Amino acid sequence: MADLTPEEFIDTILIPEKSSDHICWGCTGLKPVLKDSKFPPADIIGWCTKIHWPHYWCLADFNVVKKCYVFDAKKK
Ligand code: SF4
Repeated sequence: MADLTPEEFIDTILIPEKSSDHICWGCTGLKPVLKDSKFPPADIIGWCTKIHWPHYWCLADFNVVKKCYVFDAKKK
């Protein structure tokens, strides 16, 4: 296997269910709904683990986050 960082490796095995224009996809705070997951509400892309820490905040697919003061870019 190529030289992957731990974050890059996780991205290869935890495949998100959705895609969208949220800035959150490039943020370390996003915990996405995983592909074929049946439990979460259908209208969320995942959860933010930063804004209301230690609680999670649901990220709706219809309310696109474009700017965020807590954005923490994934290192690539
Ligand atoms: S910290 Fe901001 S950019 Fe990151 S996942 Fe939460 S809402 Fe999205």
